[in-house]
Amino acid sequence: MTFRPALRPGAPLLRRDRVSLQVGTSPGVVIADRPGLMALLRLADGTRDVARLQTYAKANIPELACDVPALIRELCALGVVFDASRWSAPHRRGLDAEARHTDLSGGELGRLTRRPQFRVAFHADAASEPIAAAARTVLADAGIRDLGSNDPDLLIIASSGEPARTVFERPTFAALDHLVVMIDEDRVRIGPLVRPGRTPCMSCYDRHRADWDHAWSALLPQFGRHTGILTPAALDAVTVHAAALEVAIEVLAHCDGRPPRTIGQFLAVGPGHDERNVWPLTFHHGCACDLLSAA
Ligand SMILES: [Zn+2]
Repeated sequence: MTFRPALRPGAPLLRRDRVSLQVGTSPGVVIADRPGLMALLRLADGTRDVARLQTYAKANIPELACDVPALIRELCALGVVFDASRWSAPHRRGLDAEARHTDLSGGELGRLTRRPQFRVAFHADAASEPIAAAARTVLADAGIRDLGSNDPDLLIIASSGEPARTVFERPTFAALDHLVVMIDEDRVRIGPLVRPGRTPCMSCYDRHRADWDHAWSALLPQFGRHTGILTPAALDAVTVHAAALEVAIEVLAHCDGRPPRTIGQFLAVGPGHDERNVWPLTFHHGCACDLLSAA
């Protein structure tokens, strides 16, 4: 792959004063000007490799009396120029913006390679569908293509109110990773993200809850049957979108191999769009889920 110089992402090329140029304004990188440099930088749009840039400069920018590859290396070290060939590899098609972001923030581009193949499915009831839909939009923008898979790598189970516990049977026994999302009155509880047998599950949660709330086991069989008599939740539009964004962040972390926050933890969004609360979920000694991995 050949180096294709591109000006620093999102940073305008400006003349600062008689002897210097500036790229970007926050705070911007200041470089000493030299004859022909502005013209060369204008050509650094990520479409030409260094050799073509050198050939073009020799023919069209005669005042640029220097070794172009050496100059590009110097500008690259200063953060003025980046290598656009890193952003559009064949195995990362449609991830250019993600790659520019990762590159500029010094992250590992290799983490993005799983996204085009990653398969996601949503099981959402009618009330939680707006959160699922907004999360799908973010995930599609982030390069996840299969958002309605029959054979997902990650299943998102979303409901208004506690879901029927039977919905966890299939993913648990199929060892399918799943993320629970529950609309809870005026907030959205996200988590746990369960890797069956490896991280605490909803049954762990129910057993912990039953330890201090002795009626919990009587309530459990009623979950998921209440939708007919449920007044719609008290979520405003921005909290719906804030929750959807957090769901998307968890899915992307799981896909990219970064640690999702909702493993062994709940994350609640709301009532205000900027309000977050987290609380832990540990394995319960009475839950058989950690035997799955031992089996
Ligand atoms: Zn468990």
